[in-house]
Formats: sequence, structure tokens, C-alpha cells
Amino acid sequence: MQKILNYINGTYCDPHSDEWLDNYDPSKGEVYSRIANSNSEDVEKAYEAAKAAFPSWSNTTIEERSRIMLRIASLIEDNLDGLAEAEAKDNGKPLSLAKAMDIPRASSNFRFFAHAITQFNSEAYESVGLNSMNYTLRQPLGVVGCISPWNLPLYLLSWKIAPAIAAGNTVVAKPSEVTPMTAFLLGEICSEAGLPKGVLNIVHGTGPSAGQAIIAHPHIKAISFTGGTKTGEHIARTAAPMFKKLSLELGGKNPNLIFADCDYDKMLEVTVRSSFANQGQICLCGSRIFVERSIYEQFKTDFVAKVSALKVGDPFDEETNLGALVSKAHLEKVESYIKIAEDEGGKILFGGNRVKVDGHENGYYLQPTVIEVFDDQCRVNQEEIFGPVVTVMPFETEEQALQMANNVKYGLSSTLWTNDLNRTMRLSKELEAGIVWVNTWLNRDLRTPFGGMKDSGVGREGGFEALRFFTEAKNVCIEYE
Ligand code: NDP
Repeated sequence: MQKILNYINGTYCDPHSDEWLDNYDPSKGEVYSRIANSNSEDVEKAYEAAKAAFPSWSNTTIEERSRIMLRIASLIEDNLDGLAEAEAKDNGKPLSLAKAMDIPRASSNFRFFAHAITQFNSEAYESVGLNSMNYTLRQPLGVVGCISPWNLPLYLLSWKIAPAIAAGNTVVAKPSEVTPMTAFLLGEICSEAGLPKGVLNIVHGTGPSAGQAIIAHPHIKAISFTGGTKTGEHIARTAAPMFKKLSLELGGKNPNLIFADCDYDKMLEVTVRSSFANQGQICLCGSRIFVERSIYEQFKTDFVAKVSALKVGDPFDEETNLGALVSKAHLEKVESYIKIAEDEGGKILFGGNRVKVDGHENGYYLQPTVIEVFDDQCRVNQEEIFGPVVTVMPFETEEQALQMANNVKYGLSSTLWTNDLNRTMRLSKELEAGIVWVNTWLNRDLRTPFGGMKDSGVGREGGFEALRFFTEAKNVCIEYE
């Protein structure tokens, strides 16, 4: 059975413990590879490699760093089919989605930051009358840790690694143990692209073991983390006494506010996608749908009709809209919320059941599920489910819609459907979310700040924000005569 090895100092290696974890193909519910179960010894080895590589990498010209990163981007593109197949098998997502989104986006993350670093600048201030000149040095931090989740495995890992190395840092990274395969394959690509040894080190294993060793490491200067809010809280508690820099991209419970004056057909099509893309396992999915009363009944009918036409099936089948959920434990968690919804008096308008896929009887398939709720404070409307489950509820006024949208502990993204410019301007200011999409969803320009408010996180990724995070700003003040 294939082994997923650590990638340390430019070489694949076994974990120190020689212990291995099972890696599942969620579409079949079968173990298909074995992952290195790394511990603090492996993290230390990765740290030492990263530390040794730092002086040279941080002094490598911007042009050379950029050139290597562009080669990584091209090699990811050249290997699009193989990487997409690996992602679909490891995660359960439709191959078509991995081909259209995950892998192209991983490539563009490297390409984007390869270009961004050539334009990254710092400010200078002449203190007029004081005979002095100030300028800001933006220096890399040293060895940094990047920890990513299972929903968009290579996409989110590269979103962290690319700005980190572009800015001259060296990295110890840990992908989710649930979906390690494409991170494993990335090692080979980086070596082929000529990334110097030790600049990127990838350690596999569980959060409490390998992940914990990274966040608790006294000399790893910063942690860029994407994952659940509870884990983020634990990371903040662990890292704060060491004054590590932290970027935390956490959970979401994103509202869709649908007003009667919107472009109805476009809204309907995009809302189906924003609800169930990647089986609803995208932190930006709109999981709470609030609809203006005058179109509510029509919306329910049309939405359910479209959702019921979605095909749940083998990720490798081209017709498939929803593949498998990522793991058995996750499937059970999502199902438990459907039960909670029923106990709370919610009405299942569609779905709620597992799906048996021919030839894949043990896979983790669930119907896309639409639940009508009658109280926006109920648990299914407040807690992150992170699966193919959305709630719908009507609203009477703009004020009520806004209040329900904000009345949640999360604040990652929100989507607004309206053609009223004044309402757009008013609500965009008032919505408590790091991103407000108006008449669109998942429309991303990599230059924009990305991140959440409230329990959805601390800090921003994307564009120069990410390069600022991965650098230390130093003020140099020179007085002259
Ligand atoms: P988790 O928080 O469970 O895990 C995220 C990563 O952290 C994994 O690599 C995990 O390892 C690791 N980890 C777990 N415990 C520790 C620890 N003690 N120390 C260090 N690392 C640890 O999240 P999921 O993987 O379940 O991902 C789903 C979550 O991610 C959802 O809440 C979702 O909203 C959020 N997310 C947020 C995004 C954003 O941009 N805001 C984007 C995408 C997802 P392992 O898996 O091996 O245990």
C-alpha cells in the first residue's frame, strides 16, 4: 500500500516513530494508503532543516525566488490531471471540481505570490525639519508554521506556503491527516522546480501530535492556520505566551440575504452552488438562507426543484454534482445536525438521508439537505455544520434580515442578492463579515483581503496582507547633519 512520507530537507522520509495512520478513500470507505504518524521529533527535524535553509533563502534575490515559484506553478499545471485525481480520491470531491477549482487555484496561488513579491514595497518618511529619514524594512520572520484543513487540501495549503516562501521565510507545514495526498505530491514538484532543500518541509500526522509540536515549538515564529474555531482557540492559547504571530482563518455560518428585487434566475443558480459546492464543505458556503417574504414560497419550490436534480455519486463520474463527505466521522456529525433540526421543530424540505452509490456501497454519501427553520437562533442555524445542509427562513424587512444575518458568533462571508444600490451600500457597511458578495459568490481576486470577523478568525490573508503577515516591519530612522 502506498506510503505518504514526510518531506524534509528536500527528501522524502519515514516518520521517526515508524508508525502509520490509515488514509481513507471516502468514496468507497476503504483504506488506500498509509500516512506518516509524525511526532515532535519529526517536527524538530523539519524545523532544523528550515532553520538551516533560512539564511540563504532569505538572501536569495526576489527574482530568483519568483522564478522558482513560477516553475512550481507551471509544474502543478502540467500535473493537473494527476493532482486532481489524487485530490478527488483523497477528499471525495467531484473530479470535475478538483480539475476546475482546487488544482488550478493551487497553481495560481504560487503564480500570484511569485508576482506579488516583485511588487511588494515598504514606505519611507522624511521627517521634514528634523533632519531625519525613516524607512521601513520588511524582513522575513524566519521559520514559520502553516497548518491547513481537509476541505480544499492543496488549494489552502498553497495559499499559506506561497506567500510565506515568497517573503523569504522557510516553512514547516502540516496538512490535514484526513487529506494528505496532494501535499505529499507537492514535495516532488518543489524539488523538480529547484526549490532549495529545507525551504519547505511537510510533516504529516495528527493535529494533537504533529500539529501541536508545530504550534508549541519555541522557535517557530508565526502560525498561519485554517481550520475549525475550536482548534483556532487552542492554537491561540498555546501560541500567545510565546508571542507568535498568528493568522487564524476559522469557521463560518454565512448568511445569504435574498431580496425580491434581485435577478431571480441568477440568484437561484448561484445559491444552489453556494449551498452545495464541495458537498457544502467550503468555509464560504452560504448555509443560512434568508428570503424576503414576498418571494419565499416561490423560492422554496424552485430551490428544492433544483436541489433535487443534483446528482450525488462517484467523484470520478462526470455527471456527479456532489461526491462523498470527507470521512465517516464527518458524515455522522452532519447527520447528527439533521436530527437536531428535526428535534428543534425544523422541517426537512428535501434530503436528510444517506445515498447508496452503486459499486461504492460503503462510501460516505449524503443527500443535499434543505431545512426550513422557524427560529433563527436554533442550533442548526447557529452552529457550523460544514456539510450539504442549508436552512431557509423568511424575513419581512431589511432590518430583520440584517439582524438575523449578524446574530451569530461567526463573521466570515455573506452574500446579498438585490438590485437596489442604496440597500447594497447600506447592508455592505452593516454586515458583520470579512467578505460581502453582492449578486455573486466565491468570486475571488487574490489581491483582496481574505478573512473573518468575530469567531471566524483573526488577521487577513491574500495580496499584500499575507506578505505583511509573513514579514516583520522594522523602522530605520537616520538623522543627518
Ligand atoms: P480542524 O480545526 O479540525 O483542523 C485543521 C488543521 O489543524 C488540521 O491540519 C488538523 O490536523 C490541525 N490540528 C488539529 N488539532 C491541532 C492542534 N492541537 N495543534 C495544531 N494543529 C491541529 O479543521 P478541519 O480540518 O476539520 O477543517 C474544517 C474547518 O476549517 C471548518 O470549521 C471550516 O470552517 C474551517 N475552514 C476555514 C476556512 C477559512 O478560510 N476561514 C477555510 C476552510 C475551512 P488533523 O486534521 O490532522 O487532525
